Amino acid sequence: MAANSAALQPGRVRILKEASKSAGQNVGPVVYWMFRDQRVRDNWALIHAVEQAHKANVPVAVAFNLFDQFLGAKARQLGFMLRGLRQLHRDLEETHQIPFFLFRGNAEDTIPNFVSECGASLLVTDFSPLREVRKCKEEICKRPPVTKWVGTSRLIDWDSLIDEVLRKGAEVPEIDWCEPGEKAAMEVLMGSKNGFLTTRLKGYSLDRNNPLKPRGLSGLSPYLHFGQISAQRCALEARSIRKLCPEAVDAFVEELIVRRELADNFCFYQPHYDSLQGAWEWARKTLMDHAFDKREHIYTKEQLEKAQTADPLWNASQLEMVYYGKMHGFMRMYWAKKILEWTRGPEEALEISIYLNNKYEIDGRDPNGYVGCMWSVCGVHDQGWKERPIFGKIRYMNYAGCKRKFDVDGYIAYVKRLGETKKRKAESLLGRKAKELCT
Ligand SMILES: Cc1cc2nc3c(=O)[nH]c(=O)nc-3n(C[C@H](O)[C@H](O)[C@H](O)COP(=O)(O)OP(=O)(O)OC[C@H]3O[C@@H](n4cnc5c(N)ncnc54)[C@H](O)[C@@H]3O)c2cc1C
Repeated sequence: MAANSAALQPGRVRILKEASKSAGQNVGPVVYWMFRDQRVRDNWALIHAVEQAHKANVPVAVAFNLFDQFLGAKARQLGFMLRGLRQLHRDLEETHQIPFFLFRGNAEDTIPNFVSECGASLLVTDFSPLREVRKCKEEICKRPPVTKWVGTSRLIDWDSLIDEVLRKGAEVPEIDWCEPGEKAAMEVLMGSKNGFLTTRLKGYSLDRNNPLKPRGLSGLSPYLHFGQISAQRCALEARSIRKLCPEAVDAFVEELIVRRELADNFCFYQPHYDSLQGAWEWARKTLMDHAFDKREHIYTKEQLEKAQTADPLWNASQLEMVYYGKMHGFMRMYWAKKILEWTRGPEEALEISIYLNNKYEIDGRDPNGYVGCMWSVCGVHDQGWKERPIFGKIRYMNYAGCKRKFDVDGYIAYVKRLGETKKRKAESLLGRKAKELCT
């Protein structure tokens, strides 16, 4: 799909399919099918598309496909994504004069149809290691373009589109503490008021494992997940101030680059990245050896989803995710490991943790999420530990350990306050709507 380009490191570009002879004669645009990197800046696929278009003296167009259903996304995730895309649309067309096209349905149909309709000379896309996206790309490669482009950019009714996804996905409502878009993402990274690198970096060494201090983390995962900021940009900016806080920068880059790329690689190279089959032999064996160990509690998916366990700390972490849309990184480990302890076996634990993670986390449906669950439940990218019931040699975490590390009661109270605030806001919104209806 995309040819090598002199300005990009050749290793960044992969040709998914060589152009057919008929496509080579096309003088239509270079189409960039945007999927994961939903941004204008620091976007290698867009840079490549623009360079190729310049070389061939043809226009560039950006296409985005909104799937009817993608890995269970709800209002929370879709609202964030569409609000970001609305800004991107404006930025692309007004600042860069690049038309943006939004399609709905199956990308396997909409993208080849568009390519065909506009007689695209080249189709470029960005990288995602997830199975569904890769299948889609394979399917698209099978359908070559044939005719010339006659159309121009169409109007997109963003307000109606957003209303629709909010209505359909209302079960998991939007969050209001995290503004979507590229500009907001840069503000979180480098803003003068509350930017991570500018004002909070020191706290990363001290507080990043303290769930009572969510601002100790960068807070970048929603933006990284939706591609509204580039991980490379974050790493370069962090490295440029390393001498101020070397320990914090090293720890941040370890997570942002090493851990994140390990997750991408795992999903790319391991077809069973979301099942027990994808675990190492030692982990599968130890988990199966202990699959029938007696459990003190066994909870159903529904009980877990409603935070109805006997452990107030676990319930708080589940509710932090439900209310706030971003569970603290430290609690994510405890949360998933307890699901292993309280379900009927590792397969069920994995299935439930991925389901809940994808449904409620603003940064869910991400390679980091699949691998985070695989790390917790199946020991992926970890080592064997002292053998114990249920967990076998998988790393174990417990309440007493958390108590030694942070103020557990303080965290439970903090999540309770989150719930109360959310309730108050929902009531005041209902009140406003009722008033509007009466006037
Ligand atoms: C069970 C479980 C589920 C998880 N689910 C997700 C998920 O759905 N989406 C997600 O992005 N992350 C997930 N993580 C990884 C990690 O917890 C989050 O990336 C982090 O908490 C996000 O907050 P932050 O950006 O403020 O973190 P920071 O510590 O500031 O990290 C900066 C960035 O580094 C990367 N990063 C940090 N920790 C990890 C890690 N352990 N593995 C891979 N990359 C990492 C992320 O891109 C993150 O945004 C999960 C971890 C576990 C154990």
